[in-house]
Amino acid sequence: MNSIVACGPCELDRLHVTVLESDIPRAARLLSILRSLGIHQLSVVSGLQDLSLQLSQTQVDVLVTEIRPASNDGLMLPSALKMHYGSACSLQSPRILWLAEPLLPFTELVEQHTAPRPRRTSPPTRGEGISVKALDAHAQLACAAGFIATTLYSFNAQAVCDAMHALFAMPKIANRPLHARNDVPSEDDVIIALATGEGLRVVFQPQHDLRTGEIIAAEALVRWRHPEYGDISPVVLIPLVNKLGLHLLLFSFVKARVLEVLCSLQSMQMEIPISVNASVDTLCTVGFSARLGDRMMRAGLPNHLLKIELTEDIPVMDELCLSAALNALKIRGFGVSLDDFGSGSATLRQIARMPFDEVKIDGALIRDLDTKPTARRVIATTLALARRLNMTVVAEGIETESCRILLRRLGCTNGQGFVLSRPMEVSDFLSKLTAQRQSSVPPMPFSSAPDVVRDI
Ligand code: C2E
Ligand code: MG
Ligand code: MG
Repeated sequence: MNSIVACGPCELDRLHVTVLESDIPRAARLLSILRSLGIHQLSVVSGLQDLSLQLSQTQVDVLVTEIRPASNDGLMLPSALKMHYGSACSLQSPRILWLAEPLLPFTELVEQHTAPRPRRTSPPTRGEGISVKALDAHAQLACAAGFIATTLYSFNAQAVCDAMHALFAMPKIANRPLHARNDVPSEDDVIIALATGEGLRVVFQPQHDLRTGEIIAAEALVRWRHPEYGDISPVVLIPLVNKLGLHLLLFSFVKARVLEVLCSLQSMQMEIPISVNASVDTLCTVGFSARLGDRMMRAGLPNHLLKIELTEDIPVMDELCLSAALNALKIRGFGVSLDDFGSGSATLRQIARMPFDEVKIDGALIRDLDTKPTARRVIATTLALARRLNMTVVAEGIETESCRILLRRLGCTNGQGFVLSRPMEVSDFLSKLTAQRQSSVPPMPFSSAPDVVRDI
């Protein structure tokens, strides 16, 4: 029987681990950590070609690789393994541990500036050169394809040891019938869906005034129902779309649905701005804002009703290009928003340098508000900074009433989250807005909270 299948959590010393790393000092660091865990069957390969040779000569149980800007060959491991073994589900296929150097999360940066104290081990939000969300999504995709893979944002020996054990706690490859793990959408499925629109739809999540409960805006979110596998999360779909270079097609699909809704609202004499998510690649496409402007004009809609949210799934490589694209949108009157601030790759630098008129605080940070004083300080600081930069703040991912009240006390007026409204189908969204207009009383009479920003 293969050692992968037989290995229990305490049998690290039986494993053969291969490190994929071209930088000698970094390889040595990884080897030293692995040796400290009692792993002695170790080898190093510097690239994917060497790996193939190594795999044909030795049974490798785990592949460890570090992802950083200058070295991201490791992201291709699933494809390389699939090519080598002919299937993701091969018994021989090693498990994968993706490591990334943790960068200081925004919360810790603020904490260090406000009150020096011993560092806590709060989870990082970004590995060097790649956002945690993106690398985690990649690992999720690999697992869905039948690989056993995990991510780690620490080079601490104990953390590596825990990650190794976690890899072996995952379902055994041997128990999976070979055909059963093909239940993920193929690239062809994505291409067909985007080309035909089949299975794709757009839902709308209202954004509320946290003082009155009134719906003041909304975000458009794509949904994909695969004919065989059912609902596929955007977290899986978006990386595939980006990988295939189909981001403009997706944007165009979502924008078309949003324009239809804006036209319906206009015919009911209602004006609610709607945001569409777009990656930096979409925004930086030549002529993007001009085409968008033409499209709005043809639809008879004012540009201020459409907002573009810069998502963090692709890192910003060319700040000048992004700045030009954002300015071109603003000149035409479109709103521009920075998504996922405080958690993803959205940074203070982007807020300070780019002409955003809205910043959305990431749900991960908002969800910590109830329990972590640090989150409260970061949110208060972001609100103060946004006020100075004349930007609106939207708190995302509000899940509890207590969180909404805390946000109000901090002076945050705009919010989005399950406790306010879940993403909804177009018809429900339009009905909710109609009901809001017909009602003289606000739809959610929230308890009043003092409209002040506290010194935290
Ligand atoms: P996002 O743009 O930050 O969107 C907010 C996500 O948070 C949505 O997930 C929404 O359903 C979820 N959410 C809203 N309120 C809550 C809450 O109270 N608690 C929790 N736990 N989650 C909440 P969704 O729809 O799965 O989308 C995930 C991400 O996928 C989006 O994050 C965005 O980055 C991307 N995405 C979604 N639709 C599109 C699209 O049309 N185009 C592009 N480029 N990206 C999209
Ligand atoms: Mg968004
Ligand atoms: Mg967001």
